[in-house]
Amino acid sequence: MNETIDINSKQLWERAKSIYLSTLQSDDEKSQVERYFSMITSVTRKANVFVILTSNAYAADFLKIQYASKFKSCLNLAGGENDLDIEFKFDETARPAIVMPEIQQINVSRNETRAERISTFSSTMPLNEEYTFDEFVRGPSNSWALAAAQGVVANPGKSGYNPLFIHGGTGLGKTHLMQAIGNELHKKNPHLAICYLTAETFLNEYVNALKNTQAESFRNRYRNIDLLMVDDVQFLQKGKQFQEEFFNTFNALQQAHKQIVMTSDVAPKNLPLIEERLISRFEGGMVQEIESPNYETRLAILKKKSEGMTPQIPDNALEYIADNIKSHVRAMEGALRKVSIFRSMDPATHLSNEILSRLLNDFIEKEKNFKKLTIEEIQSAVAKKYSVDIGQILSMERTQSLVTPRQLAMYIARKFTTKGLPEIAELFKKTHSTVIHGVKSIEKRLDVEEELKASLEEVLSELGCKLSDKIY
Ligand code: ADP
Ligand code: MG
Repeated sequence: MNETIDINSKQLWERAKSIYLSTLQSDDEKSQVERYFSMITSVTRKANVFVILTSNAYAADFLKIQYASKFKSCLNLAGGENDLDIEFKFDETARPAIVMPEIQQINVSRNETRAERISTFSSTMPLNEEYTFDEFVRGPSNSWALAAAQGVVANPGKSGYNPLFIHGGTGLGKTHLMQAIGNELHKKNPHLAICYLTAETFLNEYVNALKNTQAESFRNRYRNIDLLMVDDVQFLQKGKQFQEEFFNTFNALQQAHKQIVMTSDVAPKNLPLIEERLISRFEGGMVQEIESPNYETRLAILKKKSEGMTPQIPDNALEYIADNIKSHVRAMEGALRKVSIFRSMDPATHLSNEILSRLLNDFIEKEKNFKKLTIEEIQSAVAKKYSVDIGQILSMERTQSLVTPRQLAMYIARKFTTKGLPEIAELFKKTHSTVIHGVKSIEKRLDVEEELKASLEEVLSELGCKLSDKIY
């Protein structure tokens, strides 16, 4: 099929990208990949090689290792020739989203060139300019977190707000709020050194630095930042050695009155694999939770997000979405986009509830199944029911009063979440076979022990689920 050769390279790349995204299962995976895509500054084609430039040196390596072969097959699927190749390079000319040349001059060594200094800050991931306080709708579910974020902007580095730790379920606006802090502080003072990155990127970058024996330059790089924002710190649980490094960076920044902001899907105390001393640092400033928005807030968010959409989305459609999609704002936005596309294709049709329910069926079905339990939540609900500590659940102690809650928590983790065995084993600090054994043992006991079954139901209801929510 020679028709393929005529597709211009930009189109080919875009197609390959959509094909790749469509192969990803979870929203989390998609948003991670999109974050890396957002660091691509340009894609050019030289003969049969796609040269992909990134704004961040680390991203070039990561994309190469992680995605080169996948992209290659997607390019083929998109209609590209079989012998296409891909190269990833750091775009030396790309100005990082936010850099701070002047003020830091005092701290940088005299011989450092501008390019070197810029690379100091090239780790920051770009901030989404739309994530501002103006675009953030305030409601009872988020007003405390919003006020705290605004407090940071008013007084960055001030002790009561440092660090600011925002936690809450996925898609509830943590990243938006965090980046709003970055955007606003940058507007107020363009000379501030601002660094935003996900804990996962941070960790990977550290591992890379160690591999290339550049730990020292990694360390220095993060000591010169005025505002460090680390998104999704639950990922730090994966790197024991990095926690030590992070602890030191954290202390150095805090002592220098630099601001630190973090987000996580759970409260600091529910991060069992993070060292105690780090947790107490996390709790040492201000901890705020974002909860699921109520109906009024959902509707207000939808109104805000639909401003400027043409043709306009009628109120009844916004109300329908607010009524039916409750779990997270990201899903509401997806539903809104779908309605908007439908509307632009067919502006005359009245959007009746029947049409909306058909149109948004996917979202509504997903909503029904949406119960994203974390292992930490499960452990803490079980610990509470049995009046033991999470630490005891994670310990090796084998008294029956600990074995039952431990195994029950494993059972819920295995049967009521989509988490894999390796992750469960890691978060319970046990081997795979111990987890499998624990799950089997509870399964057998549930058949005959009414009391255990009642305890299970009680814990599930504490977690907001029922026996019938069992996935496996
Ligand atoms: P999280 O980081 O908690 O998973 P995000 O910050 O990525 O969630 O938010 C998901 C989407 O929902 C973003 O597009 C964000 O703009 C939007 N959003 C969440 N809460 C609000 C809010 N209160 N007002 C406006 N938009 C919101
Ligand atoms: Mg986020």
